[in-house]
Parts: sequence; structure tokens; C-alpha cells
Amino acid sequence: MSGSIQIQCKRCGQVLSGVLTELTDYDALNYEDDEPLLDVGVYCRSEVIVPEELFFGAQPKEILVYRKSLIDMVEGGPRVGCCGPGDGKWNLFCQKKHRIGIEMADCYMPHFVRVPLNRVKVIAVEGETSTS
Ligand SMILES: [Zn+2]
Ligand SMILES: [Zn+2]
Repeated sequence: MSGSIQIQCKRCGQVLSGVLTELTDYDALNYEDDEPLLDVGVYCRSEVIVPEELFFGAQPKEILVYRKSLIDMVEGGPRVGCCGPGDGKWNLFCQKKHRIGIEMADCYMPHFVRVPLNRVKVIAVEGETSTS
């Protein structure tokens, strides 16, 4: 298994997630429209997908998580789409309104959040991963 991490806002240190376990298998992701791309409590590096295909604006050097893996986020920005945000603009912020992520959650795409690594501090979590 790969490492587990927690992420914090790079600018103010707010904790943004619980423990996230890395998912390294492209085939383990769910590409069905209107469903979570990956489960709560896991993340994958955008590079797992981006070299394979153009993926809803995802760029290298991002981590991808499901929205419910992120905690205490403030929703903002345009959040434009027919059923959910899908325009690829900053739309998730920490409590101090620092830019954190881009939630993609419209009906014609798998649902996930892009978190560029230059917005967050990644903390390696030692030892056992959560079994809950
Ligand atoms: Zn912040
Ligand atoms: Zn829609």
C-alpha cells in the first residue's frame, strides 16, 4: 500500500481532510457520469489519469478527492453547471477564503475535486491507515 496523507491549507494551516490513502490504480477509479470518481478517504494523484486522457481540466501536480473527503470547506466562486459545478473555476475555499480546490460535480462527469498541490501542505501520516 502507498502512503497516507492529510492536507492543510498552505497559507493558514487549516486542516482540510481526514486521513487519505493513496489510490494508484487507474482502473480502480469510477468513470461513470454523475457518480463519485473515488471513495471518501482515498485520493489519487492527477498524473494517474492525465497522461491517459484529457480529464475535465485536471492538470498534473494535483490530487483528486471526492468532495466528502474534504472538511470545513467554504463553497464560493461561480459554481456554474446545469446540475452542479462543472466550469473548472475555483469553487472551494478554506475558512479564511484561500483557494483550495475546484469541485467538478455536474451530471455529465464523474464527481471529484481537483486540489492543486501548490495550494496545500501535504502531511504524511505514519502507521496504520484508518479502518473505519
Ligand atoms: Zn487558508
Ligand atoms: Zn447537469
